[in-house]
Amino acid sequence: MALKRRRLGKTGLMVTEMGFGGIPIQRVSEADAIKVVEKCYELGINYYDTARGYTTSEERMGKALEGVRDKVYIATKSHAKTAKDLRDNLATSLKNLRTDYLDLYQLHNVTEDSWKTLQAPGGALDELLKIKEEGIARHIGVTSHSPTFLTRIVAEGSPFETIMVGYNYIALEPSRDLLPTCKKMDVGTVIMKPFGGGAFTNAATALKFVLADKNADCTIPGMQLVSEVEENVAVCGGSLKLFEAELASIEADRAALGKEFCAACDYCQPCPAGIPISFVLRTEMSTLRRMGWTEGLMKQTKEVAPKVAACLDCGACETRCPYQLPIRQLLPEKMDALLKRLEEHSIP
Ligand code: SF4
Ligand code: SF4
Repeated sequence: MALKRRRLGKTGLMVTEMGFGGIPIQRVSEADAIKVVEKCYELGINYYDTARGYTTSEERMGKALEGVRDKVYIATKSHAKTAKDLRDNLATSLKNLRTDYLDLYQLHNVTEDSWKTLQAPGGALDELLKIKEEGIARHIGVTSHSPTFLTRIVAEGSPFETIMVGYNYIALEPSRDLLPTCKKMDVGTVIMKPFGGGAFTNAATALKFVLADKNADCTIPGMQLVSEVEENVAVCGGSLKLFEAELASIEADRAALGKEFCAACDYCQPCPAGIPISFVLRTEMSTLRRMGWTEGLMKQTKEVAPKVAACLDCGACETRCPYQLPIRQLLPEKMDALLKRLEEHSIP
């Protein structure tokens, strides 16, 4: 069945309910990355999201979509804080993506703090507005891990036509205020992390859950295999009804992950002891589950263990975590579990 389309807020773009998130194509060979993006196009996906910060992703997407540029919507984003850096990033993104315009250009991972810098004279916000006036970006948006921040700026009437936020059946906060506010203000909503950044067991259930929310315009799961594209398109093209067994699997995941689900936003950083907190909290149930024990993961696990043992117990991380996770309690528990898995060479 064909993918259905939804209107992306005031941009007026009719985007497929499922778009393509460009993070995972960095992890595979260029030839495989191009095959994945081409498969997305072949199966009708019309919305492609990437970022200047995703290493090779823009370039690979550009190669895959060059011949069909006028038939797809391409969105990218920049971490730039100043006007000059944004203009430089834009030039690189256009070159990588083999195009002379973007359908959507977004300020990437904005926080309450960085928002002040972005709005200051010489900041990236004014430049973004100019880029839109010049027609190089047809529309502009903002991405953030903070639903509270996004709700505030949308309600205040910011110039952004879209927002992007993480939302899934464990991280439910956006469904309470943010998405209804966006609907009211006619701001388009792009949903990242529908699979909890890889922590969930059932991708189909996770996709259906997000798309059942009519305030979510488009979700952009990351896919690195052609088979994943085929499976996800089949799910989104079919009925979005959640069956009893799926509801039960959501409850099981909530019970297993709910009070310790780390969204990998890294707001808890910097840690004075140099502990990569999200790595420790997430590796067992996401990276390890998905990729198994790679050489790199084994090395990193061994390197991180002494850092966790040297935690200063300062609590600074917990004051910054938007999910109020008990980080100091979780760190040693998660580290021990990971080391045990490493010793047994087991995978959850
Ligand atoms: S409590 Fe530990 S993990 Fe948290 S910021 Fe302090 S040193 Fe880092
Ligand atoms: S511990 Fe909290 S702040 Fe840190 S990455 Fe996870 S969810 Fe974000």
